[in-house]
Amino acid sequence: MYKYLFGPVPSRRLGMSLGIDLVPRKVCSLDCVYCEVGETTKLTLERNEYILYDKVVAELKHYFDNNPDPYYFTFSGSGEPTLNSRIGEVIDFVKERKPNVKVAVLTNGTIFSNPDVRNTLLNADLVLPSLDAVDEDAFQKINRPAKGLTAKDCVDGLVKFIKDFKGIVWLEIFILPGYNDSEENLLKLKEAVHEINPDLVQLNTLDRPGTIDGLFPASIEELEEVIKVIDFPNTKIIARAPKRKEQKSYRQDAESAIIGTIARRPCTAQDLSDILGMHISEVNKYLDVLEADGKIQVTRQERGVFYSVVGPV
Ligand code: SF4
Repeated sequence: MYKYLFGPVPSRRLGMSLGIDLVPRKVCSLDCVYCEVGETTKLTLERNEYILYDKVVAELKHYFDNNPDPYYFTFSGSGEPTLNSRIGEVIDFVKERKPNVKVAVLTNGTIFSNPDVRNTLLNADLVLPSLDAVDEDAFQKINRPAKGLTAKDCVDGLVKFIKDFKGIVWLEIFILPGYNDSEENLLKLKEAVHEINPDLVQLNTLDRPGTIDGLFPASIEELEEVIKVIDFPNTKIIARAPKRKEQKSYRQDAESAIIGTIARRPCTAQDLSDILGMHISEVNKYLDVLEADGKIQVTRQERGVFYSVVGPV
């Protein structure tokens, strides 16, 4: 069992992807109201070797020697990966050992105003930053940033990054009605998106009930309206988990373990992660697919979002 690697998981955006987690749960520069990993316990802009380089590299060497290659090695997981001060060295190690497999970085893009962070990602193939709000009030409301961080810092950093980066950039915007869908924010987002000029904009929204009151997904019609306002040529809606049959590869044992556990009693994603020893991000990916296939149902209770089985097991 690896501690810092998870999967390969069926990522809706990247296919089968091996996750590399460089920060403990949950170190992040944001505390987004919709975060699937849970509340941010260390809200910080400070970069550090939160997970030791040697420990991650030891797991990667073991993985390389014992497993087939995934489609992607993806830096993501329990928080913001660019807060790990040695992420660039881990990327370089992966690229050196596995030059034929692509490296992706899922990031909230908040600390790209730091040139070290931008330089450290130059060797990746695909960077997927998120940007939900440019209006500072909306930014505070949906992303609840670390002290001192502004939406303007994020946009400026992304604009600088994309000028130097030779790989592909997919910008994700998570739309939450009542949080960041005001006309004011969408018009500012439009301006920022055109300035950043990514290869693709992906619109996302909640898949499941939010962990706090008052969070609702945007409807497809609302997302289409956002596309019209943003008016960026390459914008797609990704707010739907892939169905099981759409996955090229899938770990049946992981699915069976999740179904078997929630058949006995409803569980939260974190319960499943603790019981099955699976990474929280891996659990969430499988829950996405199981829900899209209509195999599980979701209810929000005081302790969080619970999953249970639909019909006979
Ligand atoms: S940036 Fe990502 S990991 Fe951090 S709080 Fe937001 S959704 Fe969660």
